[in-house]
Amino acid sequence: MIDIERLAIECGPVRLKTISIVRVHIPLVEPFRISSGAVDVKDALLVRVSEGDAFGWGEASAMPGSFYSAETPESCQQELIDHLVPHLLGKEFDSIVGLNACLDQLSSNRFARTAIETACWELLARRQGVSLRELFRFPNRPIASGLAVGLYATEAELISAIHRYWADGYQRLKIKIKRGQDISLVQAVRHEFGDIPLFVDANADYSRDDFKVFQALDDYGLTMFEQPLAREDLDGAALLQKQVRTPICLDEGIETADDARRAIALGSCRIVNIKLQRVGGFLEALRISRVCEDKGIGLWVGTMPELGVGSAAALVLACHPGFTFPTDVEPSRRWYVDDVIAPEITVSGGWISLPKGPGLGYEVDSKKLARYGVRRWEFTA
Ligand SMILES: [Mg+2]
Repeated sequence: MIDIERLAIECGPVRLKTISIVRVHIPLVEPFRISSGAVDVKDALLVRVSEGDAFGWGEASAMPGSFYSAETPESCQQELIDHLVPHLLGKEFDSIVGLNACLDQLSSNRFARTAIETACWELLARRQGVSLRELFRFPNRPIASGLAVGLYATEAELISAIHRYWADGYQRLKIKIKRGQDISLVQAVRHEFGDIPLFVDANADYSRDDFKVFQALDDYGLTMFEQPLAREDLDGAALLQKQVRTPICLDEGIETADDARRAIALGSCRIVNIKLQRVGGFLEALRISRVCEDKGIGLWVGTMPELGVGSAAALVLACHPGFTFPTDVEPSRRWYVDDVIAPEITVSGGWISLPKGPGLGYEVDSKKLARYGVRRWEFTA
């Protein structure tokens, strides 16, 4: 098991000498719909921290509106520009543990914090001339990629979208459900695609009055029910888990290692989806992983989805040996007309291989930043 605090301290001090931020807009290939709305452009903030020749990139990738969290691209921009950067610029921390303790005090916006925190980890790896995967001592292994498909107006559109993407080769399929669009969707997918590895993500749309939906879904051999109930209803999730055989996976409900401890003690889940964006970066992600591994809870890496910078960080986390379910990281072209990294993320036969190279392994393409950047900021201590 990885002792992340010790590793962080061994990596030495973190200095935030220069911080550059670019807000980018990249059109989506098709609108993304979940239980609470739809978007057609990826709006993200990319953060570059540097110290001497070493640098690292991070991404703040909240969804607009009230899709997934209270944070939005706008609130992340405000938090970074008006609050976090003025506090952090020119500061030196003994280690990234110290940086995280400071971020804990400064901000509850984990998406903005993730951009800074993950950028600093990449900087530490580049300073040592190693990949971030090597820095974390994760095995070099191909990552199983899963297809995630949003809600569509009709079942026919859903089936046709799955056909369109499934042909590219994935290790499993996840579909979104919401109240009134659930059992029939699963029936339709099972009818069309047979016994493929399949599960549903409810994005917290159901209440304790809806257990019968999940009892019915229990007969479809799904790998998990992702976030069936409201994020704070861990007791409800524990009640539901007692009534269904299918493992419950928590996503929105787990933001910290303490949340994971509480959920596991209550019996609220058997699987946890860790998103770097939701938990504030690698340090907390690896703390949560340790709690879960310790209790035999399954793990996988989820996405917002992010652009290439955030996705590359997610792929590094997915190399952790405790992450045994396929990740939601998909090829760049699955969601975006273009990406900001080179090479782009590609999937072959359902597997993603991290490129060799320092840091994240992927480089940010400055021409793409120029093309898709809508605002830029530069800060030097
Ligand atoms: Mg989810």
